[in-house]
Amino acid sequence: MVSDFFLESSKSRSDKELLLNWEFLWKYREKIYSKVKEEEEKILELDFIEAKLKKDLNISQDIGQLVGEVIKKVGLNRYILKAPTGTRYVVSVQNAVNKRKIYQDTRVAADTSTLTIMKVLENKTDPVINAMLNENPGIVSYKDIGGLEKQLQQLKEVIELPLFNPEIFKQCGVKIPKGVLLYGPPGTGKTLLARSVSYNLKAKFLKIVASGIVDKYIGESARIIREIFSYAKLNSPCIVFIDEIDAIGGKRFSEGSSADREIQRTLMELLNQMDGFTEINDVKVIMATNRPDVLDPALLRPGRLDRKLNIPLPSKKALMEIFAIYFKKISNRGLINFEKIIDLCRNFNGADVRNLCTEAGLFAMRNERNFVKEDDLIKAAKKISYCKNLC
Ligand code: ATP
Repeated sequence: MVSDFFLESSKSRSDKELLLNWEFLWKYREKIYSKVKEEEEKILELDFIEAKLKKDLNISQDIGQLVGEVIKKVGLNRYILKAPTGTRYVVSVQNAVNKRKIYQDTRVAADTSTLTIMKVLENKTDPVINAMLNENPGIVSYKDIGGLEKQLQQLKEVIELPLFNPEIFKQCGVKIPKGVLLYGPPGTGKTLLARSVSYNLKAKFLKIVASGIVDKYIGESARIIREIFSYAKLNSPCIVFIDEIDAIGGKRFSEGSSADREIQRTLMELLNQMDGFTEINDVKVIMATNRPDVLDPALLRPGRLDRKLNIPLPSKKALMEIFAIYFKKISNRGLINFEKIIDLCRNFNGADVRNLCTEAGLFAMRNERNFVKEDDLIKAAKKISYCKNLC
């Protein structure tokens, strides 16, 4: 009996031990599984990085191709290609390229060493023009412009009215204006006016900074001007806004360096293009400058730039209006005397008034406040005045 009892108890003890061992092994197995899973994920991540690195390496080892323009077909599989430098070459086409897609003016990618045409580029618009198109005029309603009602009205007559109601011009027997020149000191709202007209017309907006198109390659800037206007004609209604026009629209003279001659050629192309589009094309040109005195009279003549609008420094009333536009967006507390602040804004332009509100906000933040007080505005106005006097 006693021996039976010992046998039973030893049996149950070994079962317990087995159970404990089994539990331990099971936990150990789970641990190893999760480790394996972690390692597998790491391997996947490394595979992804390896593939990306291989791709980047291939790209960096790839030989670039140049973008050219087909001038003419001169034989079976032979074309005249104009390289970006302006030089022309007789080139052949790679067999895989569909030759039916190659016409005059087609943009193609060519091998840099053999100049063989490797690919027909679908996008007909020059990348430079695409970049200009990316210039979003933004949401600028007429209410966002202060103190320029008269100028805005006149701008609308030249740009908006011909697009919305061309009949009225025909009935009056008046020629539809093509363009307008905005001139005046910096920061007075010339660009803002152009952007607001474009936004309210829902027209395509091409912004060109004239100094940016005077290219280093001879003949290229004239080509860009041609492309801009052909794009605008195809995508009308379109507003072409040329900022800092004095960079290419200066008075022409007989002597000068090759760079001056290039600028003059660009101007001549611009004049030619402005003569070339008729009022039906719904293309309107707005030019802006701080230096109207240096512009070539040929550019200014009616028929090209029909209206010249002076955008002066804002008067006290205009400053109040501009200030009200920007101030309403700012959280403020306490009584604020607008007149007292505007009196401190001598010779301020619109951009300075916007800056005044920003500076006042910064003063408030420095004092750990999330609202602006009159004191912040006074300090900001004094600071901007002081900086302006330094310049
Ligand atoms: P520049 O000749 O230097 O190119 P500009 O006359 O084209 O200057 P803008 O770029 O139109 O000046 O103005 C700069 C900023 O100043 C605008 O984005 C706008 O915030 C503000 N601003 C200027 N004038 C006004 C105005 N009349 N009403 C409201 N905001 C204005």
